[in-house]
Amino acid sequence: MDVGGLAELDGRITGCRACPRLVEWREDVARTKRAAFADETYWGRPVPGFGPADASLLIVGLAPAAHGANRTGRMFTGDRSGDVLYAALHEVGLASKGTAVSADDGLELYGVRITSPVHCAPPANKPTPDERDACRPWLVRELELLRPSLRAVVVLGAFGWQAALPAFAAAGWAVPRPRPAFAHGARLTLGAPLESGPPLASGSIELFGCFHVSQRNTFTGRLTPEMLREVLRAAADAAGLPTKPYPG
Ligand code: SF4
Repeated sequence: MDVGGLAELDGRITGCRACPRLVEWREDVARTKRAAFADETYWGRPVPGFGPADASLLIVGLAPAAHGANRTGRMFTGDRSGDVLYAALHEVGLASKGTAVSADDGLELYGVRITSPVHCAPPANKPTPDERDACRPWLVRELELLRPSLRAVVVLGAFGWQAALPAFAAAGWAVPRPRPAFAHGARLTLGAPLESGPPLASGSIELFGCFHVSQRNTFTGRLTPEMLREVLRAAADAAGLPTKPYPG
């Protein structure tokens, strides 16, 4: 893919119309809106990654939420999933604040970038395998651009895990065969790319599995804030990022 830096990649992503079903859905949601947001102008386009171009920790989700990122234009911003994720990032010391309401709310991530394997909001939060595969080149290029700084990755949920492993392989990292199954608490080392390319932050990267921050998981207690913070702390440690001490 002929794309320069990460900012250029993000700009290119926002103009993508490769998946007819998702283009129709995201734009229809943006027109019809949810009643609570009737006065807002929805983003209604693909949502690129969020965070610094030299991030050492990457968080990989699933896809934008219809009335969250598809409304605000920023990953995990403006919905309950984001409330949980950013609160945990802030408590661990990886975000400037624990709330994310709009793309211009001043939130900053420290050494962390958040992205997803599918950049358009899908109906019922379920992209098809074809849509996942169509979006993979964007993630592969993002990984290639992050290579000089990337040291650890947290993947939220089984969909992200299954989508991310082939992307890491395509970006040159050594992914074990057979591919390890997703599990909360899973930890995996991906060997450094063998072929020539941009210089690497470390010889390998550490991949962590974490239940997705969806309401289905957080409302039922399948994923608690403490469980999420534990994974983020371990991943930040692997990425060489400082974290806040445990309270008390
Ligand atoms: Fe493009 Fe990805 Fe959106 Fe499909 S899901 S239209 S490939 S940005």
